[in-house]
Amino acid sequence: MIRGEAKLRPPTSDDQLAVMRSLVKKDAADRPGIYRMLSSDGEVIYVGKSKQIRTRLLSYFRCAFPKEKGARILRNADQIDWEYTPSEFAALLAELRTIKRFRPRFNVAMMRDARHYSFIKLTRGPAQKLMVVRGASGDDSSIYYGPFLGAQRVGEALRELNDALLLRDCKSEIKMFFSDQHELFQLSPRTPGCIRHEIGKCLGPCVAGCSSHEYDQQVSLARAFLDGTDDRPMVILREQMEKLSAEMEFERAAIFRDKLERLESLRSQFDRLRFAVENLSFAYTVPGHEGDDRVYLIRRGIVRGEVTKPTSKKQKTEMQKLADNIFSSEDKPAASVPTHEIDELLLLSSWFRRFPKEMKRTRQVS
Ligand code: SF4
Repeated sequence: MIRGEAKLRPPTSDDQLAVMRSLVKKDAADRPGIYRMLSSDGEVIYVGKSKQIRTRLLSYFRCAFPKEKGARILRNADQIDWEYTPSEFAALLAELRTIKRFRPRFNVAMMRDARHYSFIKLTRGPAQKLMVVRGASGDDSSIYYGPFLGAQRVGEALRELNDALLLRDCKSEIKMFFSDQHELFQLSPRTPGCIRHEIGKCLGPCVAGCSSHEYDQQVSLARAFLDGTDDRPMVILREQMEKLSAEMEFERAAIFRDKLERLESLRSQFDRLRFAVENLSFAYTVPGHEGDDRVYLIRRGIVRGEVTKPTSKKQKTEMQKLADNIFSSEDKPAASVPTHEIDELLLLSSWFRRFPKEMKRTRQVS
């Protein structure tokens, strides 16, 4: 990787902008890469990528209106540095990773993208609960399922799942009290935080309605459903629907049919997601600048390894060893995506959607 750097002293005046511009003109080449804009105190304020670094950087100096994003960034910038990458794909990856590292204040657009998606989050702590959240948070201790579009539909399906498995859906701050839990003092009788326990839709972990083990078992069932390995929640609803039908309670049976449909729709969304994630597992060869070709070992939508395209037998053996390592490690359920991997998964799936012909450069690795 070749590195170019143009350092200037604050404040950013027209004269200094002219110097920055001339340094870009002198040093930057029209090659793929990423660039960073830094303030006078060294804060990274913006990270961008381009197939043609020189053209892209010079375009900043042509921003005619002060309100244009490029002009605003430049006025706050005191230094520009850039790195070349072998290809546009490599630039895209480097941009994402650099943004995640520095969280520059002008990169709001990319952060907003991630918030368009919803996830089902399984919280930690006693009486875990499932909830729909927007965007990926930095909370790596929770488990996330998704991403999905359509938060409302996912929320409705999740309500059915909670009801079918008698899981809580109340606020996190509500205090739990399991039947196997001992307390030194209990001054007044407990009352549930909502009516779900009384109407048979929640085990009632807030009022000793179940032991922690009983509750955890239901959570495991929910996870198995979201992981695609257990259909019990749908079986429960189907049985209730059939029982009501047999009792000629057709209106109530129809309510259960609708509930079942919502869960089926959630399940099929997961199936599609699993399919997409699993299909993003291969070795992807990308031609690079002046023959700097790279092979990316992508597993479940994440680049797990990158090597220079092997030309000798020795290099091929080394790459195969790395691939064996990456592709033979144990699988997590495909519908649960660790938070720190979500952005990259979204980035790769959108790359292959935008450029479907790139799939021709991929090959399965066993
Ligand atoms: S019954 Fe208790 S635990 Fe269940 S949802 Fe209501 S407040 Fe939460």
